[in-house]
Amino acid sequence: MNTFLSASQESLKEKYRSFAEQTIGREAQALEEHEVSLKDFLKTIGQSGYCGITVPKDFGGQGGSLLDLILFVESACRFEPGLGMTFACHTAAIELIKKYGTDTQKARFLPLLATGEIIATIAFAEENAGTDWQAVETTAKVESGKVVLNGKKVWAVNAEIAGLMVVLSKSGDKLSLLLVNLNPDAIAGGAIAFSPNKRRLGLRSCFVNDVTFDGLTINEDCLFSSDSQALAMSHYVMDVAKAVLSASCIGLTEAALDEAVNHARNRKQFGVNIGQFQGIQWKLADMSAELEGARLQTYRAAWAHDERPEDFRRFSAMAKLFASKVAKVHSGEAMQVLGTFGISSDSSLERFYRDAKMTEICLGTSEAQKLVLVDELGI
Ligand SMILES: Cc1cc2nc3c(=O)[nH]c(=O)nc-3n(C[C@H](O)[C@H](O)[C@H](O)COP(=O)(O)OP(=O)(O)OC[C@H]3O[C@@H](n4cnc5c(N)ncnc54)[C@H](O)[C@@H]3O)c2cc1C
Repeated sequence: MNTFLSASQESLKEKYRSFAEQTIGREAQALEEHEVSLKDFLKTIGQSGYCGITVPKDFGGQGGSLLDLILFVESACRFEPGLGMTFACHTAAIELIKKYGTDTQKARFLPLLATGEIIATIAFAEENAGTDWQAVETTAKVESGKVVLNGKKVWAVNAEIAGLMVVLSKSGDKLSLLLVNLNPDAIAGGAIAFSPNKRRLGLRSCFVNDVTFDGLTINEDCLFSSDSQALAMSHYVMDVAKAVLSASCIGLTEAALDEAVNHARNRKQFGVNIGQFQGIQWKLADMSAELEGARLQTYRAAWAHDERPEDFRRFSAMAKLFASKVAKVHSGEAMQVLGTFGISSDSSLERFYRDAKMTEICLGTSEAQKLVLVDELGI
């Protein structure tokens, strides 16, 4: 594997960085506090083509690879890591449709997802089914050409602003995967309700809602799978989401390292810059080495998605496990270097530190990633 970027990817990265700096940087705090509407902001990002980086050109997208998208998310999350969650779910739905969707589903949804006209959400988790998907209690019953959904999902990112929802449910005793078009015209009966945006530790710019289906009735063509394929498809959805979330961990850690280095160069104690103390230097050295380790793992997962699909699942799990740990540990270490400047709410480090812990839990916990790796080892 060539772990380094091609010349065109290097220039894409430059382009994404400058977009992120100019467009996301100045709105990051306002996005976290919901003073700027995320829905409108995503339209701005969509107008630049970045909601559809991996959507094929035939469907109005950029025709890029998952690695291209990951470079964008890495740049965006240097400023606002919550966008990483939004893009993880949106991209996972796009990749699901690209890989498993019918021609009709591709034609109907990919152009809208590419422009950001609709944003996608993934609704897998339930109150009694977090890590254990087989415990899902939401039911999808097929009745005379329609599917009737009943149940409650929790912690679904983008839900209240979404136009399309990927839902894990049960049909009889089997898992089933649905692609629910949330356009009111596509709903034949019943109701869907969203909780208010959930109050939480970090990643606050994205919307996270519980979702209740009360006899929500939709056309049967929304049923992706209700057999053994449903589990494989669901794994694929989460594997994509986890690879993208790993990119947000890299962006966040890189921003934390930059702040720590800057402070170490400028803050004087005992008559010298604190960067001259070996205790500070070693923190920065560890941060720099482990950030690169996380970056390589994340790029490798993206590469495997396109070039070696048989390894994608384990590389994605490794990237999420490692990158989220690096983000948590080193956002804390960066804060230590900044002392009181880091814990102040005026510092973006305070926000990054809260965001980083979240990445060890959302879209599958660190322990859940280890379950994937143990499974792959065949123990
Ligand atoms: C910000 C955020 C966004 C999210 N977004 C989404 C989303 O968009 N869509 C969605 O479907 N879900 C989403 N989730 C839900 C998330 O995927 C679940 O919270 C996660 O899978 C953990 O589920 P749980 O909280 O029920 O923990 P549980 O599964 O109850 O686990 C509790 C603890 O037990 C550990 N554990 C469980 N099983 C094992 C085992 N076999 N071996 C060892 N340890 C184990 C876990 O690692 C954890 O430490 C989100 C969560 C957050 C916080």
